[in-house]
Amino acid sequence: MSADATRIYFDRAANELDLSDAMRRLLLTARREVQVQIPVELDTGEMATFIGYRVQHNNARGPMKGGLRYHPQVDLDEVRGLAALMTWKTAVVNIPYGGAKGGIALDPTKRSTRELERITRRFVDSIHDLFGPDVDIPAPDMGTTAEMMAWIMNQYGKYHGFSPACVTGKPVEYHGIPGREEATGRGVGALTLKILSRRGRQAPGTRIALQGFGNVGTFTARFLHDAECRFVAIGDADGAFHRPDGLDVPQMLKFAQAHSGRLEGYTGGDRMTNEELLAVDCDVLIPAALGGVLTGTNAAAVKAPLIIEAANAPVTPDADAVFDSAGITVLPDILANAGGVTASWFEWVQNRQHYQWGINRVRQELDQILGSAFEQVWQLAQERKVSLRTAAYMLGVGRVGRATVLGGIG
Ligand code: NAD
Repeated sequence: MSADATRIYFDRAANELDLSDAMRRLLLTARREVQVQIPVELDTGEMATFIGYRVQHNNARGPMKGGLRYHPQVDLDEVRGLAALMTWKTAVVNIPYGGAKGGIALDPTKRSTRELERITRRFVDSIHDLFGPDVDIPAPDMGTTAEMMAWIMNQYGKYHGFSPACVTGKPVEYHGIPGREEATGRGVGALTLKILSRRGRQAPGTRIALQGFGNVGTFTARFLHDAECRFVAIGDADGAFHRPDGLDVPQMLKFAQAHSGRLEGYTGGDRMTNEELLAVDCDVLIPAALGGVLTGTNAAAVKAPLIIEAANAPVTPDADAVFDSAGITVLPDILANAGGVTASWFEWVQNRQHYQWGINRVRQELDQILGSAFEQVWQLAQERKVSLRTAAYMLGVGRVGRATVLGGIG
C-alpha cells in the first residue's frame, strides 16, 4: 500500500468528520521515519548491504505498534502507508496503541537462516534506541517469523536488559503466547461469519475463494472450514487450485506443512492462476497474501458479492470505487485483520505482568474485542450511509483525533 492510498481513505473519513486542515496535517504526518544501512557478511564471506526502514506514525493513543516485513519490494513509501494503516487499525479495535511499520528490502527465501539472523540482529543494533515496550513494538509480518522476533528480543536485551515486551509474535516457548499465531486468521474467520449472518446467510455451504496460504490464509481456512464453509479455490505464490465441490482443506494444510508452507505439487484440485482465482465464481473472496492485487483493471471481473481484506491493502482505491458502484461489500483490512495486533497486545500485557492467560481467555477476549468493533463499524456505516471502510476509518481517525486534542501538543 502506498501512502497515497491510505491518504484517499483518510480524506474521505476526515471529510465526514469535518476535521480541520491543521488536524489533518498533524494526523497524516509520521512522527519519525528511519532508514538505516545494514551491512552484513554473507555465508560466502562476501559483504552485502541491505536497507532497513521503520516508520513511527502516531502515538497519541499509546506506544506505536506494527509489523516488520521482509520482502524485496519494501520501500519507504510502502512502509509509510502501512504505518498509518496501523494507527487507524489499533484505534478501530480500541486498543491502547498507535501505529508503526518497518521492513527490510530482501527476499527471505533467498537467504539462509544464519544470514537472516545476522541481518535481523544488525538491524536491531541500528535502531534499538528508537523502539521498546513503551515506544514502538515490532511484530511479524510478511516474510518474518516468530523465530526472528526471538532474535529481536534477544538482541534488544543486550542493550536494555530483559524486555520481552519490546516485540510481539514471539515463539510460545520464548515469551510468546498461545493464540497469537492463529489470531489474525481466527479474526478474519470470525468476522466473515458475522458479516454473513448480517446478510442473512448461514456459514455451511458458503463458497469461499482464498488467496494466500501463509499464516493468515491457513488459520482463516482452518476456522471457516470448521464452520462448514466450502473452499472452491485456494492459492499461494506458486498458483491456485480450483474445485467447485470444495477443496479438501485439512489435506491442503497437511500438504503445505510437509512442503515448507507451499502448495506446489498438490494434486487435489484443478490448477488456475492467481488472477483467475480473484475472478472465480464464489460467495466470499478473501485476499490474504499481497497488497494491491485487486485493481481498477481486474476489479470488474470479480464475481464475489463480499470481499474480506485479510491482507493489508489488497484492494486499491480504484478497485474500491468499482466495488462500491457494483454493490460489492468490502470488509476493510483495518478491521478484518486486526485480530493479529489485538493478540499482540495480549502478549505485551502478559509480558509486562509476567503472567499467563491461557488460550481460552485469549480467544474469548479476542472475539469480544473484534465483535464489538464490528458492531460499531456496522452501525456507523448504516447511520451515515457510508461504506464499511469509510465507517472504520471514521471510527479510527476520530479516536486518534480526539486523543490528540485531549493530550494537547504543547
Ligand atoms: P506469510 O508470509 O505467512 O504468507 C503469505 C502467503 O501469500 C503465502 O502463502 C505466499 O505463498 C502467498 N503469496 C505471496 N506472493 C503471492 C502472490 N504473488 N500471489 C498469491 N499468493 C502469494 O504472510 P502472512 O503473515 O500470512 O500475511 C499475509 C498478509 O496479511 C499480508 O498482507 C500481511 O501484511 C497481512 N497481515 C498479517 C498479519 C499477521 O498476523 N501475520 C496481521 C495483519 C495483516
